[in-house]
Amino acid sequence: MKGLRYGGLECGGTKMVMAVCDEKGTVLDTATIPTQAPDETLEHIVAYFKERDVQTLGVGAFGPVDLNFASPTFGNILNTPKLAWQNVPLLKTLKEGAGVPVVLDTDVNAALYGEVVLGGAKGIDHAAYITVGTGIGIGLWLNGRLYHGSLHSEGGHMRIARFPGDTFEGNCPFHKDCLEGMAAGPALLKRYNVEKPEEIWKQEGSMDLESHYIAEAITDLTMLLSLQRVILGGGVCDTPGLVERIREMTAEKLGDYLPRPDKNQMDQFILPAALYPNQGIVGAAVLGRDFSTI
Ligand code: ZN
Repeated sequence: MKGLRYGGLECGGTKMVMAVCDEKGTVLDTATIPTQAPDETLEHIVAYFKERDVQTLGVGAFGPVDLNFASPTFGNILNTPKLAWQNVPLLKTLKEGAGVPVVLDTDVNAALYGEVVLGGAKGIDHAAYITVGTGIGIGLWLNGRLYHGSLHSEGGHMRIARFPGDTFEGNCPFHKDCLEGMAAGPALLKRYNVEKPEEIWKQEGSMDLESHYIAEAITDLTMLLSLQRVILGGGVCDTPGLVERIREMTAEKLGDYLPRPDKNQMDQFILPAALYPNQGIVGAAVLGRDFSTI
C-alpha cells in the first residue's frame, strides 16, 4: 500500500518551494518556481500538489498574513511590499484548488515547527527560532505551542543595542536601525559596501558585529521568555564560525545572572537548524499533517 503523502509549501517573496513528504517528514519530491503574478503562481502550485495526491497541505508564508480564525480576511496576505500579492486570499485559493485541508502559518513558524517536531528543538517546551537572511524572522514555541499573539511575531523589528562604534544608520524602511535594519543580509552588504555575501566576512570585525546583534536578540528573548533552546536558521547563520561566536557573546551578555541556560553549555542552548536547509518545507508539511481538522 502506498504511504500517505503530505504537501509542504514555503511561500516566499522571490520563490515558492514545494515539497512532498512521507509520514516521517522525509522529503520525497521537491520543486521550486519563481514568485510571479499571484494567479499563475498559485495555479502552478495547485497543479503540483494535485498531481502528487497529497493528503494535506501545510503552508509557511511570507507576511504579514492574517492568521486570526475569526477575521473575515483570515488566510489572506496583508499589506506586503509585494503589491500584486496584497489581499490575495492565499488559504482559500489553495484549499479550493488543491481540494485538501490546508494549514497556513508564517514561514518562520513553519520552520520552527519543523525543528520542534523533527529537529533540534524536539522535546522542548520553550524555544525560539531565529532566521537571518534577506530579512530576520523570529518564531516562538511557548508552553509547547506555537505563539501567534494578535497577528504574529515580527521579532526582526525589535530594538537592540548598537555594536560599539557602529555608525551604520540602518536600512529598515520602517524603523531604520531595528534588528533587521542592522543585521539582515542587505544591511551587512550596504554597511560594508560589498556585493557578495562572502565578501562581508572579509571585513574586519564583521563576525563580531553580526554576532553581537544576534546575541542581543537572543539575550532579550531569553530574559523575557526563559527559553530552553534557540535554533538559528537562514543563509547568514550558515556562515562557518558564526554560531560559535554568537554562543560566546550570548554567554557574555547574559552575565552570570541566570542559572539557566548554563553558560558552560551554550552549545546545548543555541543550535543551528538540524533540518537545514529543509526546515521550512518539512515544517510546513508536518504543520499540515498535524493541524488539519477536516
Ligand atoms: Zn524594522
